[in-house]
Amino acid sequence: MKVLVPVKRVVDYNVKVRVKSDQSDVDIANVKMSMNPFDEIAVEEAIRLKEKGTATEVVAVSCGVAQCQDTLRTALAIGADRGVLVQTDVELQPLAVAKLLKAVVDKEAPQLVLLGKQAIDDDANQTGQALAALLGWSQATFASKVEIDGERAIVTREVDGGLETVSVKLPAIITTDLRLNEPRFVTLPNIMKAKKKPLETLTPDALGVDPTPRLKTLKVSEPAPRKAGIKVSDVAALVDKLKNEAKVV
Ligand code: AMP
Repeated sequence: MKVLVPVKRVVDYNVKVRVKSDQSDVDIANVKMSMNPFDEIAVEEAIRLKEKGTATEVVAVSCGVAQCQDTLRTALAIGADRGVLVQTDVELQPLAVAKLLKAVVDKEAPQLVLLGKQAIDDDANQTGQALAALLGWSQATFASKVEIDGERAIVTREVDGGLETVSVKLPAIITTDLRLNEPRFVTLPNIMKAKKKPLETLTPDALGVDPTPRLKTLKVSEPAPRKAGIKVSDVAALVDKLKNEAKVV
């Protein structure tokens, strides 16, 4: 079974982003970029499927600027077999990414596409679902456990108030939640090995996809600053404030 894992290059989760002075966007000049954390979980899961003998090949794919190669090299260092970069300088929105991924799926014919449930930059939570719709495939989102059973995937999903287990027919789209696994550390020897793994570069044009954005961002603003806290003298004063000011007890 071939597994395709889309990996997005995003601002590192440790970076405190700033809004540009003209409020047109977040300023990402000179900030550290990394693989979207949910995608690291997806790569780890794909590698575990390969280690169990369920997956035969793991292909990582990233859409975006030339530097997405670094993100692909990280996926290769975790254990993916090869990478595909769909290179473009156009701002990519989830629907455009889903169309590009559909074209890659048509070319690669994987049995399973494992995506992150959301990218931590746009927080869209759309790409996996849009890809499933474009392909007409089954989808299981927010997976916290994945088992392959013959022609089906048994997926445990995190839903409000508990866990739901679903069975989907392969080929399918699965998106990862935080508790699916803990990605392994990338070791230096594996980083070196990753440099020699194959990385193919495609373009939206070659895939017959127009990635032009459909949505226009009108304004980006900082969240309201939190008010400074105060110290209360004793428990009675705290209870008084909770009762009469905050009105929460
Ligand atoms: P989103 O719908 O933007 O929240 O992203 C959900 C998931 O889609 C991510 O976790 C990635 O697995 C995948 N994805 C989104 N954008 C890209 C991209 N530019 N390249 C590769 N994968 C992507």
